[in-house]
Amino acid sequence: MTNRLSVRSAAGRTVALVNVLTGPDPSADAVAAVLREHGEKVPTALSPEELAGLRLSAAALRPVFAAGTVDAAAARLNELLALTAGPLRLTAHGGTTAWHPHLDRDDDAPWGEWLLASAALALTVLVWDRQRPPGGLCASSSCGQVFLVLGSGPERRYCSRRCATRERVAAHRMRRRAQPRVSSAAVRSLRTPSAISDAPVTPAKLSRTYPAGGSAQ
Ligand SMILES: [Zn+2]
Repeated sequence: MTNRLSVRSAAGRTVALVNVLTGPDPSADAVAAVLREHGEKVPTALSPEELAGLRLSAAALRPVFAAGTVDAAAARLNELLALTAGPLRLTAHGGTTAWHPHLDRDDDAPWGEWLLASAALALTVLVWDRQRPPGGLCASSSCGQVFLVLGSGPERRYCSRRCATRERVAAHRMRRRAQPRVSSAAVRSLRTPSAISDAPVTPAKLSRTYPAGGSAQ
């Protein structure tokens, strides 16, 4: 049986949906594409009401990722669990899937309710299992996507290697800009043997400096 219904899959789907729904292109087509990528059946185009419901749920879920500590994440999840319709039930969608838990009212609940309930449930299980925040918010100011933390390594700050690299390069440039400017002549004088002045290098000068006519060693 596919592991599409595992907690990790549900949590990963949550991250993808929160990012598209709170991102620059939360169009019905873009959101439906993400739903389909995660194995959800989207029979027709999402209606404006369905999209609005999904966006509302995504906005409610973002603070769980922004919480920073496990206590704050748990407090936020408790608020969301109180909002979801519940009670907890098992469904196999009429025998078409493996049995898995749902918190939404029924299998035909609106998309927004389904997202909030399934995400709250998956993130709750992750907190229960790991006693750590279930994810984070990318520290890159030009990104801000949410991400999942499933490993046990050191605290993660960026959603992706791409964001981490971009921020590292930007920080390096900033540090270089903050350093006092040193003239290129001063840099040359540090690097070159004292016998060579800043005057243009002529072949005669080279042979004087390096009488062996070759190596600079
Ligand atoms: Zn990022």
